[in-house]
Amino acid sequence: MAEARPCIITVAITGSLPQKSDNPAVPISIAEQIESTQEAFEAGATLVHAHVRDDAGRPTSDPDRFARLMEGIRKHCPGMIIQLSTGGRSGTGRERGGMIPLRPDMCSLTTGSCNFPTRVYENDPELIDWLAAEMLRYGVKPEIEVFDLAMLFNAVAMAEAGKIVSPLHVQFVMGVKNALPADRETFEFLVRTLARLAPDATWTGAGIGRNQIVLNRWSLELGGHCRTGLEDNVRLDRETLAPSNAALVRRVVELCAEYGRRPATVAEARAILRLPPAAPA
Ligand code: MG
Repeated sequence: MAEARPCIITVAITGSLPQKSDNPAVPISIAEQIESTQEAFEAGATLVHAHVRDDAGRPTSDPDRFARLMEGIRKHCPGMIIQLSTGGRSGTGRERGGMIPLRPDMCSLTTGSCNFPTRVYENDPELIDWLAAEMLRYGVKPEIEVFDLAMLFNAVAMAEAGKIVSPLHVQFVMGVKNALPADRETFEFLVRTLARLAPDATWTGAGIGRNQIVLNRWSLELGGHCRTGLEDNVRLDRETLAPSNAALVRRVVELCAEYGRRPATVAEARAILRLPPAAPA
């Protein structure tokens, strides 16, 4: 039997919707976020994607909060890959990149604009270039967020222009209303197109809501990596609220075997993403 291929499990712990979701397990304070990340790490997640909130629970891009979160995660989750969000709900313009100088392992980078359920997710070319330049300057690897096809082509063009270091790491996000639906043929097209344009790239699939587990399965099957977590989905199934980020991670860990995969170790995850080994504690 072929050896199981490692899968990097990303846990997106919190998200940036301003209201607390109807699931009280969503971690909001820094202390809650660190505790939830540690549980997810112990369950098998090797990459954490994080937003932070202010004291009123509203999304913010306050670098001090990000710094405290990073410090706690580094202490309690040795080697875990830390990815901070530069997403659009936490600030406007260059505020969104104010945490890049903290030198997390990675930051998200959306390489285009699209519609979200109730608003425009605006990423103008100048801001995208500036965020990418900051990531280059501080040695932060971007995770390219692909909500629409043009974003994939833009990322490849940016890599060819030297604005992003290759190999690319791309996340395909499906199931956001008004952006890409969770459509299998489209997903296969995206995976195939990335392989054609950037053969050395790595990728993760992310599905929103009930599509989370659908994208987990498709990604395991097609050789990609998986994202789960309460940012994207607060349920285990129709009847059951997810009790924690760790519970969603365990669901992916259990699925791995079905597809001849296994969760990556921290060292493997860093090697797959060409990140330096974790600094000694
Ligand atoms: Mg996010």
